[in-house]
Parts: sequence; C-alpha cells; structure tokens
Amino acid sequence: MDNFSVGWEEWLALPELGLPALKAKTDTGAKTSALHAFAIQPFGSDEKPFVRFGIHPVPDNPDIVVHCSAPVVDRREITSSNGQTELRYVIRTPVTVGERTWEIEITLTNRENMQYRMLLGRSALEEIAVQPMESFLQPELSFDLYNKIARRKPIKRPLRIGILTREPNNYSTKRMVEEAEKRNHTVELIDTRRCYLNIQSHSPEVHYDGKPLPHYDAIIPRIGASLTFYGMAVVRQFEAMGTYCLNAASAIGASRDKLAAHQILARHRIPMPTTAFASSPKDTSSLLDLVGGSPTVLKLLQSTQGRGVVLAETKKAGEAVISAFQNLDANFIAQEFVKEAAGTDLRCFIVGRRVIGAMMRTAGEDDFRSNLHAGGTAKRVKLTSEEKSIAVKSAKVLGLRVAGVDLIRTDSGTKVLEVNSSPGLQGIEKTSRKNVAETIIEHIEKNVPSTIRHGKGKKNKI
Ligand code: ADP
Repeated sequence: MDNFSVGWEEWLALPELGLPALKAKTDTGAKTSALHAFAIQPFGSDEKPFVRFGIHPVPDNPDIVVHCSAPVVDRREITSSNGQTELRYVIRTPVTVGERTWEIEITLTNRENMQYRMLLGRSALEEIAVQPMESFLQPELSFDLYNKIARRKPIKRPLRIGILTREPNNYSTKRMVEEAEKRNHTVELIDTRRCYLNIQSHSPEVHYDGKPLPHYDAIIPRIGASLTFYGMAVVRQFEAMGTYCLNAASAIGASRDKLAAHQILARHRIPMPTTAFASSPKDTSSLLDLVGGSPTVLKLLQSTQGRGVVLAETKKAGEAVISAFQNLDANFIAQEFVKEAAGTDLRCFIVGRRVIGAMMRTAGEDDFRSNLHAGGTAKRVKLTSEEKSIAVKSAKVLGLRVAGVDLIRTDSGTKVLEVNSSPGLQGIEKTSRKNVAETIIEHIEKNVPSTIRHGKGKKNKI
C-alpha cells in the first residue's frame, strides 16, 4: 500500500454526476457516504430505476445548482447522527480524491443545512488511512470550477425526458422514445391538453392527473397546429420551471404565425416568393397585382399540410377566393406562384445548426401542393450549400433548434416557403435513411445544462 491518506476534511469530485469540486467531511461513524441533495425524485421503471436530484455544491451560494441523475442500486433505512431514521436512495458512482478514483455507494438525503455537502463514510474509506487530526491532505480544488462547467464536455447521464404530444403512438413519438431508451434515458409521454398550470412566481408547476409533474431534464414539444395557443402556454410553464425545452414557446409561436414568420424571415434577408397581406376587400385587386398577377397562391394563415393553400388560376378566381376568406374572417396571405417548381419542394430537417436530412417532395397528379399528407411522394435530394445555409438560417432566425424548413427552387434561386416547428420524422427517415430521432436525442444530451446559475439570466445556447 502506498501512503495515500485523507484528513477529516477533503476536496473531492464526483465526475459522473457533473460535480467537479465538493468539500467533504470524513465520517467514520457512518457506514455509507451521504450527499446532501434536494428535489430527490425517482424515475424510470422497477427494472431500471433512476433518481434525479439537485445539489447546491457551494454551501454559501445557493444560486449554483447542479442537476444530477444516476441509477438507483438500493433503498436503505439510514439512521443519521441525530438519531433520525429515513429511507434513502442509494447510488454508486466514482469519487476522485487527489490522484485516486474509486467507486463508492452514496445515499441521498435532503438536509440542506449541512456545511459539508458530502460525508465520506467507512465503506468508502476501507483501504484508505484517515488522519482525523489533519485536514486537506490531498490537493485542494476550487468552487471556481463551476464557472467553467459550461465550456466542458457534457456529462453523460440518464436523462428524464418528457414529450409533449397528443399522439403517443405516432411514428415520430415512437422513434424518439426508442432512440432515447437505447441511450439509457427515460421518456414520459405527456398529453399536452391534460396539463394544467399553476402560475406563480415562487414555484411554478405543471399539474397532470391531479398532481404536479416532476422535474424533467428536457421537454420535447410536439405541438399540433390546433393546440398552438395552449401548447405554447404549457411549454412556457416548463421554461419557467427551468426545464430545457427543445423548441422554445416563443419560437413555436413565431413559426406558427405564418405572417409573422414571413416578416421575420424577410427582415433577415432570407429569400422567399413575393408575399403580400391585406385586410380590406378594397385592396384585393392591388394585392393580387403586387404578387405578380395570376396565377396566385392564396394561403390561410392557419393552414397545415397544404389544406388551406389554394391556387387561383385567374384574377377573377383570386378575387372570389379572397372574398370567401374575408367573409369567413379568415386571415390569409397571397403569394407569387412558382410555376417552374412543377409541384416540388424540398423539406430540410434541421437539428441545432445543421441540415441533418433532406428530401424532395413532388405533388400528386393534378396538384401543385407537395405535402406528403396530401398525396405527394418523396425522394432523396442533394442540397446545394446555399440551400443548406438558407434552411439553417431560417430556423435560426425563428429561434428553432429543431425544424422542418420547406424550400422551393425557382428561376431566381431557392426560396423559403415555410418553417415547421414539429416536423414529422417518418417521411424524412425513410427517404433520407438518416437516424433523425437519434440526432435529436444527441442534441438534447449535448445541450441540457447540468449546472444552472440562477440570477444571471444566462440563456442556453442553441
Ligand atoms: P402548409 O403549411 O399548409 O403546408 P405551404 O406554404 O407549405 O402550406 O404550402 C403547401 C405546398 O404548396 C408546398 O409544399 C408547395 O408544394 C406548394 N406551394 C406553396 N406555396 C407555393 C408557391 N408560392 N408556388 C408554388 N407552389 C407552392
């Protein structure tokens, strides 16, 4: 044996929990080591139980919070020094003290008032000499390490992910669950419409089936067009709880409002077919002239899957459709018709700042709309670097981390048609043969913050 020994207090790290520096007290009176955590919440299944918890690693700075998760190896009755008995979760994780790293068992307890976040018990110190009169025999660490944590490689840990969806059985949902579980994460499906919100500044909560939902590491919003308003409110609430949401509520809102989205894209000089908007029937004729005369594409602002998109072949037809829309109080945009696209468009799937898959969709016979739901067909396509950059920029200016950007090839270059915040996975995975679901989960792993500094208003990076 070398002469590695520890004093009654030491600095240590729990690297797999994302804790680079903790001040610990050795406590040979206790068998098992203990970590002082809060919001200790079990998740996963009986066969694969996990626990998620928060730590304030710096005792006098409660603004620094690290969220950790680990497999549960046991639950044990522990009697602490003050005689109280509690049932605690037990995890196993490596501990690093000085140059040594070894696996130990740790129980989690919610006693925040302790000066030491960690107690090293006998079982962790079996082969190590403890010198109870000395302190810091091993190199000292610094809490400064928590300031640098954002720049370090992400900690690989089991994540608790919630998917907000009304379609638990659809292809996209199933694929994301499948890929997340392969990577040791737990996914819970949350029916967006069943969420109700407790809006208060101290502890905002989302309730479900009579009780508050737990904390998730990440939320994947899959909000259908018909639930945009309510869905955005639910996503905002998760944001208020500090949860990483794959797409922010504001970004979902900006892309859903086709008119606002076109205005934002135009402001960033992203090319799009000439588009116009008017409210008064007096301006119909000028509006149609503005977009280059007939034929004209007219789109209800609420349209999805091509259902509210009409091609008016003549000016008379255009005026008739507009008059019908106006009588129904429906908002719409008029757009120059890109004839040369011949019923094709390009769907680009964006994750982060990359196009991870693309397909060319072609309209069914007698249609100019290429939406797959409307009978279009899809094939692989190679995008030019210019097209990739338009697609990436479109998602970025709307603030979307995951998006389906639809482009149309015109005689005057490729332009943007629309940006979708909950793009389907089926067509794109089948056509591009890319594992889109896995890329989405990887993106979440890389971007979920494990350390949060409150009170600094720091935004998460895309
Ligand atoms: P939705 O959101 O309802 O899918 P889009 O704006 O994406 O509406 O239009 C649906 C489809 O109609 C597009 O995928 C494209 O094939 C076709 N389309 C839309 N706008 C034009 C246009 N200006 N010129 C030619 N075809 C268009």
